[in-house]
Amino acid sequence: MAGKGLSGLPKMDVLLAREELTGCGLPYALVRRAARQALEEARQALLAGSLEAAPTAEQAAARTLELARALARPGLTRVVNATGVPLHTNLGRAPLSPRAAEAVRAVTAGYCNLEYDLDRGARGGRTGRVEGLLKELTGAEGAYVVNNNAAAVLLMLSVLTPGLGVAISRGELVEIGGSFRVPDIMARSGARLVEVGTTNKTRLSDYAAALDSGAAQALLKVHPSNFKVVGFTQAAELPELGALAREKQALLLCDLGSGALDAGPFSGEPTVEEAVRRADVVCFSGDKLLGGPQAGILLGKADLIARIKSDPLARALRLDKLSLAALEATLMDWRDGILPPAAAMLGADRASLRRRAEELAVLLAPLCPCEVIESPGEAGGGSMPGVSLPGWAAALTPAEELERFFRRWEVPVIGRIHKGKLLLDVRTLLPGDEAVIAAALARWKGEQP
Ligand SMILES: *Cc1c(COP(=O)(O)O)cnc(C)c1O
Repeated sequence: MAGKGLSGLPKMDVLLAREELTGCGLPYALVRRAARQALEEARQALLAGSLEAAPTAEQAAARTLELARALARPGLTRVVNATGVPLHTNLGRAPLSPRAAEAVRAVTAGYCNLEYDLDRGARGGRTGRVEGLLKELTGAEGAYVVNNNAAAVLLMLSVLTPGLGVAISRGELVEIGGSFRVPDIMARSGARLVEVGTTNKTRLSDYAAALDSGAAQALLKVHPSNFKVVGFTQAAELPELGALAREKQALLLCDLGSGALDAGPFSGEPTVEEAVRRADVVCFSGDKLLGGPQAGILLGKADLIARIKSDPLARALRLDKLSLAALEATLMDWRDGILPPAAAMLGADRASLRRRAEELAVLLAPLCPCEVIESPGEAGGGSMPGVSLPGWAAALTPAEELERFFRRWEVPVIGRIHKGKLLLDVRTLLPGDEAVIAAALARWKGEQP
């Protein structure tokens, strides 16, 4: 029986003693917090007149359980990426490979040999394992890793070019996103920015003039990762810049941005190996085309990398053990010829994408109006600008309603609305995601009047 008013509210101890709550498997403190919240809600509703009678203990327990389950879910949670953008910065960029995810779990659930050399039984270096793999994969003399590529750029310039003039093309003074602006980071590093060329055209002779006049002692090439200048354009590329730098005995540094280890799936991107052959130091992200964890990777001449590594700033920007474990496993995947998930997604061909979209549509068609459509996508994460990827999607209606429902599902599903349809692009689906989508949609259908 529902009580009359405030006095009818279930007592806290009675509520907490109910079997649904004692047997729910959630921590007691969490359930108590939820119970307090449920009772407070009911009290406010009674006072406001939006509720006529106090809830029964059973009703209050059901609401408590609902609130407790919501409190038990972390805010940062897995989602299904159905946007078709493999390196979606808002969705965490690259998903880790099974080997990398397992490495993180194995290394963090207990102790690990982070800075311990098991052969010698003595203190060891923390980055030696990934440095060895990076050198093997790219042919670089020296390698080092930091927290992200923004940190790698800052560290590279702070150590190698403080007080020096650094020539950079006006077409490469870019903002990468998240307020990372090349001119600002250069200023912070103590390097002197020497702009050469124009926004659309910069010639090798522009760099040569900056070196000859004494204005610059180093060259910086920044890979324009999230935009493309089209039309009447010209830029000096790494091979010619490398030759110029050698001739003039100037440093050539390169922020490669994405860093493709293998040209295969990434049309038109310069490979890391090629950049390492041309530039003195190269840096790029761990979670773009490499397909690993957030990290900044520095490769180059042994003496320059050694200077970078021993700088106090390197310690402040160092990579943590979770990322080191994931990065080592990702590099082992590349070594063993296994493409990390994001790289495999980028290389997926049109025919197999179409087949998967048709299979998804077969699964979803009994649940809502659904058709298969072609929808071009992009790489994302500031990679492969201007490259349109072939894409196939299941297109669902009603778009707005489904978009909202999917976004709030236990495992949120993120698609995109286009021309009145909710598109679920299959390129970025991981194993098991189709079942998540179908389960969510079955619930939605069940809730329809
Ligand atoms: C993405 C990018 C960065 C920043 O890398 P993070 O790993 O996100 O810090 C810097 N420079 C270029 C050219 C980039 O593309």
